[in-house]
Amino acid sequence: MFNFDYSYLSLPKKFHSLTQPSSCPFPEIFLLNQKLIKKFNLQLTQKKILDVLFDKNNYKKSFAQNYAGHQFGYFTKLGDGRAIIIGEHLLKNNLRIDVQLKGAGLTKYSRNGDGKATLRSMIREYLISEAMHCLNISSSRSLAVIKSGESILRQNLEDGGVLVRIMKSHIRIGTFEYASYFGSSKDLKHLTSYTINRLYPHISNSENPPLALLNTVMNKQIDLVVNWMRVGFIHGVMNTDNTSISAESFDYGPCAFINSYNPSKVYSSIDHNGRYAFGNQPKVIKWNICRFAESLIPIINENKKIAIELAQSVIDKFDSIWKKKYYSMMLNKIGILENKKSLHSLIDELLSIMQNNNMDFTNTFLYLSQQKISKTQHNSDSNFDLWQKKWNNYIKKVSSLKESKQIMKKNNPIIIPRNNVVNDVIEKAMNGNTDSLNKLLKALTKPYQKQEGIHEYTTPPNSHVDACFQTYCGT
Ligand code: AMP
Ligand code: MG
Repeated sequence: MFNFDYSYLSLPKKFHSLTQPSSCPFPEIFLLNQKLIKKFNLQLTQKKILDVLFDKNNYKKSFAQNYAGHQFGYFTKLGDGRAIIIGEHLLKNNLRIDVQLKGAGLTKYSRNGDGKATLRSMIREYLISEAMHCLNISSSRSLAVIKSGESILRQNLEDGGVLVRIMKSHIRIGTFEYASYFGSSKDLKHLTSYTINRLYPHISNSENPPLALLNTVMNKQIDLVVNWMRVGFIHGVMNTDNTSISAESFDYGPCAFINSYNPSKVYSSIDHNGRYAFGNQPKVIKWNICRFAESLIPIINENKKIAIELAQSVIDKFDSIWKKKYYSMMLNKIGILENKKSLHSLIDELLSIMQNNNMDFTNTFLYLSQQKISKTQHNSDSNFDLWQKKWNNYIKKVSSLKESKQIMKKNNPIIIPRNNVVNDVIEKAMNGNTDSLNKLLKALTKPYQKQEGIHEYTTPPNSHVDACFQTYCGT
């Protein structure tokens, strides 16, 4: 059972609104994450979970969060329009996790929406978030998907679904933007100290806690986005309201994984200008961190000029930290532990060869670590062979191929949730056959291990199929 607390409600009223989830007419468990139930010691049986989730008596204090955010560069007031936090489950080690129902009905912030979510999009979020976690990427987790039993209107009538989502916290850059634009500096101070106590208590004694928070979040977000780049993940809608202060990836709407390497790749149907393209993600996260910095200005220093200078001194470090962490990660992908500037060109050259030859991102690195990928599964040219010789010579000089392969194995997944495969298994599940979905979910729990019978997951789609593939917000 949950051991709920509601510390978020200690913030001023403007940050939340008490909201009860709507009842589902015929709720049915569609997916249940037994491992997570065990991890958090929830002792929830299949039978009990629906009673717990849909018993109104449990919801005297459930709430929707209020926030704002920059969406595609434009500031707007938002808030949880279709998500309700039913409580903060307290863990043994004094940590707390938000338990949220996504798609559970109208809230004060629903604007023109219906507060609901499609079953299809919630299965997708479950699958991607669990895959991200197993790829060793900090992510929201999914405890269950409930089929609500009602039809909801999108382009057509669709089955409704509710995702039970777990995060260290749902506080986002947009929460701070809301406090800064619509609250007093007292509100902003309150939110800042709450966030620090909850997520980063070690910085509460620093000389300037808001500045330390900016610095910490910047570093953690750099780690996160570097990690996305490692596995070819495109978030697709990196608005500031989807950028969490805990640096967990979340809100898997139009996200996708790249097949052939192309930094300007976009899958999202709504990203017309490629703002959130694969290779743009470092620039966007820096832009988002700048919005975070701006929102903290009123409490960094009473003197605005000094506050701006202090915030700028943090932001000025972004580029060099990014470069260092990004190349370190990419060098690990080719089995090199040291991060010397002179080696960066080796990465740049490889990526440019991959792009020119439409080479599959995941499989090229697997080929280099010689994990069962045949030449036919990737289209290289003589430039690639020359590059490979150069790389081999370097490895032999500084260590051994064997040692490098160990490093590569840890950093290069064998399986990623390829878009065509994800669509295919969800389609089958929606038609009543959940075997393929369960098989994929199981395989994705061990993405770095060789497994039998996963050929369909490691084969890239035909380039024409990939070029036409689009993701939708799928609300
Ligand atoms: P997202 O792109 O999923 O992060 O959502 C952006 C904003 O739109 C958030 O404020 C959501 O709560 C809101 N939203 C998305 N879908 C719905 C919906 N079906 N009903 C109400 N609000 C929604
Ligand atoms: Mg969102």
